[in-house]
Amino acid sequence: MPCKNNISAASPSKAVRELSPYIPGLSITEIRDKYNLQNVIKMASNENPLGVSPLARDAIEQNAAFAFRYPQSGNPSLVKAIAKKHGVNPAQVVVGNGSDELIDLLIRVFASEKDSNLVCFEPCFSIYPIQAKINGTKLKRIPLNADFSFDFEKLLETVDKNTSLIFITTPDNPSGYCPPADSVRDFLERLHKKALGALVVIDEAYMDFTDEANLSLLNKTPLPKNAVFSRTFSKSYGLAGVRLGYLILPEDLADWLWRTRLPFSVNILAEQAGIAALEDVLFYTETLRTVKEGRKFLQGELKKLGCQVYPSHANFLMFRPPEGALSAAELHEKLLQAGIIIRKLTSYNLPGYLRVSVGNESENRQFIKAMKKILTSPAQ
Ligand SMILES: *Cc1c(COP(=O)(O)O)cnc(C)c1O
Repeated sequence: MPCKNNISAASPSKAVRELSPYIPGLSITEIRDKYNLQNVIKMASNENPLGVSPLARDAIEQNAAFAFRYPQSGNPSLVKAIAKKHGVNPAQVVVGNGSDELIDLLIRVFASEKDSNLVCFEPCFSIYPIQAKINGTKLKRIPLNADFSFDFEKLLETVDKNTSLIFITTPDNPSGYCPPADSVRDFLERLHKKALGALVVIDEAYMDFTDEANLSLLNKTPLPKNAVFSRTFSKSYGLAGVRLGYLILPEDLADWLWRTRLPFSVNILAEQAGIAALEDVLFYTETLRTVKEGRKFLQGELKKLGCQVYPSHANFLMFRPPEGALSAAELHEKLLQAGIIIRKLTSYNLPGYLRVSVGNESENRQFIKAMKKILTSPAQ
């Protein structure tokens, strides 16, 4: 039937019409053009401060000639390398086009029945609620404690028989808080005892950067049966641009995800770069050292400037500008004018807060220098 008045017959679902899309960090090109700047540094998206692992880069270059081939179905060599790293069976690993794809896949596979609900904290990484909404999954949200720690008691009370998935982020984004592994284990056990079938997704995108060892249950056996661990190559492995993430979960559950995932979502270059990055121990070690030292430096300097800085186990710091000084939005804008991109947290509903990713030594110094200049300028 022809359409009247040029109105297309296709229209998006109610969920899509009501969607507030994901707001990414600003890009270098965008800010360079807008403010007519020569040099812009980006400390907004928690990327690796050292760039790409040299071994991963070689692998990408060497495999460019194979770009005409489809990847091998199921990316078996990458899956095997990941399984080996974590001492698990390859059947417990699912790889995806960034953890973002896997988060969406988990929701599509396990939480899209009509009555299903998904539980997450407020605020949290915005991909969880956005993908839940797109998939028509009901959301239940629990406020974080005032110090950004997790209220597991409240979480347990909120979960009901229709809860399919619970998302927790350890260390958390944007605060950097990381709960003790024992409290996560205790929560999983109590959930199991209450005979609630919900699956807990433990997003460990930043786990490599923690100050204390053993904050991850993934390093302890046996692995819990009601948990999925999510990891990414975007942060500690420096591969955000090639898109690669993975899940570790019970085999029977992994099988459902493999059946549903688009066949070739992890491309040949990502696959080979991932394998090489896992072998690049030097780059990985250097990354952790740079992040831990940089985090300590930034933490100290921001405090000296009178900012309220939250303790962080990740490769970023959340902070508030000094009392009575500029607002977070004003400070963010002044930093942009100085060629430094950090993250406003308005999309997390935290308009008074800012998040800065740990950069390399030079970037960290430039950021602090700009902050000093802005905060001590008589104009404000
Ligand atoms: C950065 C980040 C990820 C990683 O996403 P990718 O899609 O793998 O790049 C996952 N979870 C959280 C909380 C993050 O901040």
